[in-house]
Amino acid sequence: MNTLFNFNAGPAMLPPTVLEQVQAELRDYHGSGMSIMEMSHRAKDYEAVNAQAEASFKRLLGVGDGYRVVFLQGGASTQFAMVPMNFLSPGAAADFLLTGAWAEKAHEEAAALGPARVAASTRADAYRRVPRPDEIALGPEPAYVHLTSNETIQGTQWHAFPDVGGRPLVADMSSDILSRPIDAGRFALIYAGAQKNLGPAGVTAVLLRESWLARANKGVPTMLRYATHVKNNSLYNTPPTFGVYVLGLVLRWIEGLGGLTAMAERNARKAQLVYEVIDGSGGFYRGHAEPASRSLMNVTFRLATEVLETQFVAQAQAAGMIGLAGHRSVGGIRASLYNAVGPEACRALASFMNDFAARHG
Ligand SMILES: *Cc1c(COP(=O)(O)O)cnc(C)c1O
Repeated sequence: MNTLFNFNAGPAMLPPTVLEQVQAELRDYHGSGMSIMEMSHRAKDYEAVNAQAEASFKRLLGVGDGYRVVFLQGGASTQFAMVPMNFLSPGAAADFLLTGAWAEKAHEEAAALGPARVAASTRADAYRRVPRPDEIALGPEPAYVHLTSNETIQGTQWHAFPDVGGRPLVADMSSDILSRPIDAGRFALIYAGAQKNLGPAGVTAVLLRESWLARANKGVPTMLRYATHVKNNSLYNTPPTFGVYVLGLVLRWIEGLGGLTAMAERNARKAQLVYEVIDGSGGFYRGHAEPASRSLMNVTFRLATEVLETQFVAQAQAAGMIGLAGHRSVGGIRASLYNAVGPEACRALASFMNDFAARHG
């Protein structure tokens, strides 16, 4: 088999053992004589898949009865609209903490639907860091406060979430969900497209605090109302059954590795291997993020010239390392080190980087 080290930003690598299990079960799911893709979403087998995925998700995040998890479609980008449709109202603006490209998108979409304020922004700093607590100016009673826990494109991450008092806190965690323990009880709503840390593209996981859900707007189209999906256990209409099944296996894989504490240790070690090379390169590699805001999921850096960056990407690819070109909007290099990416991939990348710097420095 052709083994690659896959640093894709999304869709991204899945745990190899999960893919093997999918393959083993593909033609005959648990003796049913058919694949999970071919059965009714109302069948007992699928109901069990759906229930396990919800239960594992809640167990991993350490939340109990006051929370629900639903599996939706439309990606995180649909959540950019769904959150304001359900929770913005003319009288109360939502407060946005702008940390990069994804936070900007979430804010723009909300602003098209209702009042949305910028409560902090590090745009003037080229989004090299998240805001300091003293830079955040929240309204007294916003509809909610929205943040992006990890900026996939710029490569920054909140390492301590801001204190928002009693205000409802909403987070886009698409690119670092389940990569570390968080105090999920501080959030009214968390959403994440699956294709970075949870499973295949096509599923979006949403964690909601039930007491907040009770305050949602009426008059929202049925499919865009969170209450519809909560009431129907994500089975109001045909869900993306295959994606939820794979997501459930990924959650089991995380639990099997020791849960979020183990995952966080593994992720910190992995990212350190790469950041150490950047810091020790005497300026050959220049990290985009300020050290205190560095993402453990997306490591972004530049080389002296674009020509050198192109050579870096091409030579890495020839050495079996793919997905290292930065996002088209910012250029440079980006190594995405999501949960499924193993330490061996990070060691290989670090060694390639040292070698490349020695040859071109
Ligand atoms: C990838 C990503 C998105 C967009 O996700 P889609 O599922 O493509 O809509 C939004 N926010 C963050 C932080 C992301 O990384």
